[in-house]
Amino acid sequence: MKEFDLIARIQSRAAHRDDVILGIGDDAAVLQVPPAMQLVVATDTLNAGVHFPPETAAADVGWKALAVNLSDLAAMGAEPAWCTLSLSLPDSDETWLDGFLDGFLALASQHRIALVGGDTTRGPLSISVTVHGFVEPGRALRRDAARIGDDVWVSGCLGDAAAALEQWRADADGDALLRIRLDRPTPRVALGQALVGIAHACIDLSDGLLADLGHVCRTSGAGADVDLDSLPASDALQAFASGQARRLLQVAGGDDYELCFTAPSERLDEVQRAADSAGVPVSWVGRITANPGVHVFDADAIEWLPPRKGYEHFG
Ligand code: ADP
Ligand code: MG
Repeated sequence: MKEFDLIARIQSRAAHRDDVILGIGDDAAVLQVPPAMQLVVATDTLNAGVHFPPETAAADVGWKALAVNLSDLAAMGAEPAWCTLSLSLPDSDETWLDGFLDGFLALASQHRIALVGGDTTRGPLSISVTVHGFVEPGRALRRDAARIGDDVWVSGCLGDAAAALEQWRADADGDALLRIRLDRPTPRVALGQALVGIAHACIDLSDGLLADLGHVCRTSGAGADVDLDSLPASDALQAFASGQARRLLQVAGGDDYELCFTAPSERLDEVQRAADSAGVPVSWVGRITANPGVHVFDADAIEWLPPRKGYEHFG
């Protein structure tokens, strides 16, 4: 297959939206932004061997490439609309491309996001996606909006993806439930939108709770106390790890793509209602303080100093 045939294959499967005036096929896409809405834009790249094990199924790579981007829109409280896809492929393998599109487009249709363009080149396997979404003016959920005294919340469970990665690295017979959390993260799009007007700060957990909540604290000019016993753990994680090992996966493990957000304690009921409406459990995990940095405490209120904080590409 040539580049043109690959693009034609992608074009034939991309879904339509009425606000796409011109989609795949011209030099650029033409898109109609709803009146009086702000555009929210994010890009994330997945490189084989860095962001996913090289033998990951094509459909899972497709799913994850879009999921990590939708997770960024979720963290802003934005409504997804459009995306572009830059593909660097080692060869023009149509079977791989079809599998990739199966995963990518399945998630795209769940969130009514339209693929409107991209680029296709030869090179090491790498997928770069850009997503566009809408928020009402001034309503985006930002990292720098935490206030001292806010409760800190997380959605879903923490540490599953990092546990799956550990199992994969150890060549162990991996737990399928954990592996799904690594390969097919669920972007919390409905929750992010439901939290607009309720949450103060919000971030998605890609590099681990300590690292990502650390960004919230730094940009907000605050700190956070985290209660270890409140961190939500799935049954699969509890079966895999306990004690220090589990704590470390939960506070420093990346790739969960859950939301971490802060909200004033008077709004607890509204937070709970937002979570119910989005169909995602949320857990209280700590509090924003005036003491800089993220501090983790055990049940005896003794501070726990984790051996590492999270994932850094150039760390
Ligand atoms: P140009 O030479 O103008 O960059 P291309 O041949 O790269 O054009 O792309 C032709 C059309 O196909 C454009 O509309 C582009 O957005 C779209 N396209 C190319 N690659 C992809 C892809 N991987 N996913 C979606 N659309 C793509
Ligand atoms: Mg091009």
